[in-house]
Amino acid sequence: MNLAHLLLRQARQQPGRNAIYNGTAPHATYGQWAARSAGLARRLLDSGLVPGDRVLLFMHNHPRYLEILFGAWWAGLVVVPINAKLHTLEAQWIIENANVRWGFVTSDVAPTALAGLERQIDVESGEADTLLAPLADFIGEPLTERDNDSLAWLFYTSGTTGRPKGVMITQRNLMTMGLTYFVDVDSVSAQDAIVYAAPMSHGAGLYAIPHLMAGARHVVPASAGVDPAELFELGRAVGPLSTFAAPTIVKRLVDHAEVAGLTPNDAAASFKTIVYGGAPMYVADIARALRVMGPRFVQIYGQGETPMVATALSRQHLIDSKHPRYLERIASVGVAQTPVQLRISDASGAELPVGEVGEVLVKGDSVMAGYWGNPEATANAIRDGWLFTGDVGSLDADGFLTLKDRSKDLIISGGSNIYPREVEEVLLTAAGVAEVAVVGAPDAQWGEVVVAFVVAQSGFSLSEQTLDQHCLQTIARFKRPKHYRLVEALPKNNYGKVLKTELRQRLLQEPTGDRPSAS
Ligand code: AMP
Repeated sequence: MNLAHLLLRQARQQPGRNAIYNGTAPHATYGQWAARSAGLARRLLDSGLVPGDRVLLFMHNHPRYLEILFGAWWAGLVVVPINAKLHTLEAQWIIENANVRWGFVTSDVAPTALAGLERQIDVESGEADTLLAPLADFIGEPLTERDNDSLAWLFYTSGTTGRPKGVMITQRNLMTMGLTYFVDVDSVSAQDAIVYAAPMSHGAGLYAIPHLMAGARHVVPASAGVDPAELFELGRAVGPLSTFAAPTIVKRLVDHAEVAGLTPNDAAASFKTIVYGGAPMYVADIARALRVMGPRFVQIYGQGETPMVATALSRQHLIDSKHPRYLERIASVGVAQTPVQLRISDASGAELPVGEVGEVLVKGDSVMAGYWGNPEATANAIRDGWLFTGDVGSLDADGFLTLKDRSKDLIISGGSNIYPREVEEVLLTAAGVAEVAVVGAPDAQWGEVVVAFVVAQSGFSLSEQTLDQHCLQTIARFKRPKHYRLVEALPKNNYGKVLKTELRQRLLQEPTGDRPSAS
């Protein structure tokens, strides 16, 4: 199987249909897309690249992303996507680690030559035009044979500590991910459109696969990023959009809808489906999103090692507010997606009974082949076919998975386990709270104490006393934060995840007298 077959299949059926948009402007029909990808594939192979070689995509979201991605796959190459916000040195480390040969870049992201590449192509240059010149007879252009277990996408983990690892994602993994979308996430027709607002180097870009399978349209916003006003308008212009968004992006869309006085019907004109995941979505936030934007949300939980596929919380589950366990359900990440099994295990890997908290394990055709050039890390992450996700959670009797936190974020205070997420959920329901992150700080007496970093909604001023009172009404005394840090913003990585490691560091760097452990 070669994933480029998906493109060829659509281009043969509906060559004249618009496929890729640059904002509201058509950029390529399915026929043009296939002709350019086939042309690129031929020239890559003619230039001496061989199937299995790695090529880099280090660019902001761009209509050519999809043409290059499928051209590389057509030639049997492996794509190494890099988040556009990575530092040049980080990109160079990945180039060296993955032994990348060619790189496709945008000049804003990589203005100078990246060490280690044989050839660096600015995707907006004449050189790129030549490489992507359409091949009239794309139907006759052979797809390089790839077997299902061959590598397609070498994705470097966003990792908040240490060096990123190259996650080896195969043709089979991506085919599984694409097909699963229709069963567990959403139905898609050729009339639909997906918009790439979040980075295409991550899950948002992988959702091109199910939308290509369905012959839908692919829209890159003119800003190439997340601008809520632009996205609402784009949806009205080209038809309701589907998109993948981290919870922080969802929040920005909802804020915009509220400020602009938009109704759920207005939201329906702009968005068909918003799939959220990648970081915790708090109950207060999803409840507000549903209220303001209506029933257009689906949650997924996955990780680079099983991209977009572990669990899903369906649109129906999210709106079934009469269900006796509705609140638990919307706090969960849903049920196992169709192609995977889930298990909660103790430290030895033994399965734990329903309701008990342990590490989340996933098994199935979406799980990576391993880490690039790192057999020890692979052996540690995949045992007996089960992927050890590093996430901690529990399953209920109906199969709903509730994530607690990553094991490294767990706080142990006075011998009791405290899951930051639980405290965060409570603080988010306090008046005037916009965002919260709870971490542990070392403490001589308790081992660790709970510290909450809190961002106020604009126009609100928060006090530690009222936040403390609020916690006392809802959670056990020992779980409530001993200290607060009222901050303007939370540090986040390129995919919108809060960097708790940085918050912990920040506490350690405070002058001794201010440190939580000193009081
Ligand atoms: P990455 O490999 O960068 O995609 O990060 C994956 C990690 O993000 C997972 O292991 C989880 O810790 C977290 N994550 C992903 N989806 C969700 C979700 N729906 N809810 C909470 N955390 C999530």
